[in-house]
Amino acid sequence: MRISRRLCLAAMLAGVLASGAAPAQPAPQTAVPVLAYHRFGATVADSMTIRTSTFESQLRYLSTHGYTVIPLRQLVDYLAGKQAALPPRAVVITVDDGHRSVWDEMRPLVLRYRVPVTLFIYPSAISNAPYALTWQQLQALQASGWFDIQSHTLWHPNFKQERRRLTPAAYRQLLRQQLLGSRQRLQQMLGGEVALLAWPYGIVDDELMQAAADAGYSAAFTLAAHAASRADAPLALPRYLISDAYGERAYARLLEQAQPSAASAH
Ligand SMILES: [Zn+2]
Repeated sequence: MRISRRLCLAAMLAGVLASGAAPAQPAPQTAVPVLAYHRFGATVADSMTIRTSTFESQLRYLSTHGYTVIPLRQLVDYLAGKQAALPPRAVVITVDDGHRSVWDEMRPLVLRYRVPVTLFIYPSAISNAPYALTWQQLQALQASGWFDIQSHTLWHPNFKQERRRLTPAAYRQLLRQQLLGSRQRLQQMLGGEVALLAWPYGIVDDELMQAAADAGYSAAFTLAAHAASRADAPLALPRYLISDAYGERAYARLLEQAQPSAASAH
């Protein structure tokens, strides 16, 4: 089943299926918008905060316009050819950084609207930084069944700056520590399988993708304003950065642009 990671990466980067489980007929090229959130609040404190009321209006829009929020893992399986099709109008919700407003503001809406969410966490902040979630909260979120907890590296370094600052050997060591260390810590604290990664600041290049493959990640996400499809590199999949500017009309426009043929897709 498992083939060499280097070969696997090469195959994935070439945009072809990495295993012999390819379906006889090519699956339709479904593209799915993956949305990236950060913080929630009553007011827009900064560009990374969305008002909780704006987020709720987005959830309401999805549920009243035939969209299905799917777990990120389901999309990753589809992109890897392990799943033949997705529900029409599929959308994915992710949240980066593990801010405590995920617990205070977002969680009640996730439970009310019953949408699966993936959190990308950097463990150094958890139960440590005053703005961050605690391990206990993460355990409770995971136990609810609606939250999947995945990796955002160990402490959210800027890899572009670090590469300039460090020797090549020290930089490679940092990559391994950040990518493998985060996976191991999350698996140790939460018990689930961690194979998905969000790149800090969306920074990604060939060396980073190789390091992620070596550390055991099967998919990784950056920030780019288009929907994810099998045409994208599995270790640099796009996500839309969502801010409070996405009121209902802008949000509807984004979804329509992301999936122009959504109504006929299957
Ligand atoms: Zn981040």
